[in-house]
Amino acid sequence: MRINGFLGTSLIEYPGLIAAVIYTSPCNFRCGFCHNSNLIEVNEEVLEVKDIMRQIEERKKIIDAVVITGGEPTLQPDLKNFMLKIKEAGLKVKLDTNGYTPETLADIIKNKAVDYIAMDIKTSLSKYAQGVKVKVVTEKINESIKLIMTSGLAYEFRTTVMPGLVGEEEMKEIGKMIKGAKLYALQQFSNKNTFDKSLESVLPYTVKALKGLADIVRAQVEKVEIRNI
Ligand code: SF4
Repeated sequence: MRINGFLGTSLIEYPGLIAAVIYTSPCNFRCGFCHNSNLIEVNEEVLEVKDIMRQIEERKKIIDAVVITGGEPTLQPDLKNFMLKIKEAGLKVKLDTNGYTPETLADIIKNKAVDYIAMDIKTSLSKYAQGVKVKVVTEKINESIKLIMTSGLAYEFRTTVMPGLVGEEEMKEIGKMIKGAKLYALQQFSNKNTFDKSLESVLPYTVKALKGLADIVRAQVEKVEIRNI
C-alpha cells in the first residue's frame, strides 16, 4: 500500500460512522477539477503501513471504520489484504473509487473485504474522456456500476457537478446509468485548488441550478443528496 496521508478522525467520510481516512496515490484519471492533485502521480512521500495499522489499532475505541481514498485505491496491488486486516481489527471499511477497475472491485466484493463503496460517476459516458483526460473504455464504468448495485453492500454514486462537464443532458444519461440505485449525491464544484488551473475561472452552479439538476435524476434513484453547498 502506498499511503500518502492519514486522518485520524472524520465525521463526514463514512455515512453515520466515525472513521479514520487513508489517502493513496496514484490515480489512473486526470480530472481537471481534482482537489487531490498531489495524489494523481505516484507520490514518494509515503507513510509506513505498519505505523498506520498501529494508529488504527490504537484508535479502535473512538472510530468505527476506515475509509480508503485517493488517488485511486484500487491501483494498490495489496489493497484487498490491507482491507481484510482492517476488518479483522473489527472495523468497517469504505472504499472511494472512480470505478475504472471492475475486476479489482469484483475481487474485493467477492472476498468480503469492503462494507461500503462510493463510486464517482464523472459525467455521461460520451463525455467521460473529456472529464478524466485519458482514453476511457466506458464499458468498465457500466460494469462497475452493475457490480456495486448487485453486491448487496451499502453504496453510493456521486458526481462533482462542474458546469461545462455536467448539465441537464448529462444528468439524464447518468440517471439511466444508475437507474434503481440506493443513493446518488451531487457534489458542488469548487474552483479552488483545481488540478487544471484554467478551471479556477469556472463559476459553480447556483444552489437553485443544482436542485434543478438533482430533480432530473430523482425519479431514477431511491435517494438524492446535494453536498458541499
Ligand atoms: S478526482 Fe479522483 S479520479 Fe479524478 S484525478 Fe482526482 S483522484 Fe483521480
